[in-house]
Amino acid sequence: MDRYRAEPLRIYDLMDTFTVHCPKCQGKADVTVPAHFDYKNAILKCTSCHYSERAIDLIRHKPSGKAKCHQCLEFLDLTVIDGFKSIPSYFNITCKYCKTTNKVKENWESYIAKYHDYGIIDPAFGLPLWFQETVKGDIIWAFNLRHLTEIKNYVQSTLRERTTDRFKMTMVEKLPDFIKLAKNREEILKAVERMETK
Ligand SMILES: [Zn+2]
Ligand SMILES: [Zn+2]
Repeated sequence: MDRYRAEPLRIYDLMDTFTVHCPKCQGKADVTVPAHFDYKNAILKCTSCHYSERAIDLIRHKPSGKAKCHQCLEFLDLTVIDGFKSIPSYFNITCKYCKTTNKVKENWESYIAKYHDYGIIDPAFGLPLWFQETVKGDIIWAFNLRHLTEIKNYVQSTLRERTTDRFKMTMVEKLPDFIKLAKNREEILKAVERMETK
């Protein structure tokens, strides 16, 4: 009998590499994360066009908090300010009520200006994951080839052993139910195959 022994592989253990679509050529690119959740030090490298990018270069700074117009005392709309690459000593903003130009020094918050904020994307650059397929209206996806192989091994196995240690949630236990359903097995494996040969 085919057994899948779930060594407690956590989803985080698979989050060191994300295979994504290159932002330049849409080809296959890898986002490498140096340590768990250290997304600001992630590096993107495209295997097709050799484009490369550092997440740290996408860091932007925007004003946080509130500021009032020195002329009419209405609040200034700081949301119109685009993120700065480095924190300036001040910036100019025109009051939308009285049209006075204000010099504003503000508190700042930093963020990574990702390509996308939503969708099936990597957590560093916000680029669409490479391994995605639709199965009966649901989307099966994997962060990288290793993750895809784990899913495949799991779905292929006919007997699934579960870890009894509830503090070691395995990657497969977190898979959505449609992947775990025996009746979807054939379709899932076909989708995995399409992704493997992509
Ligand atoms: Zn590319
Ligand atoms: Zn004003």
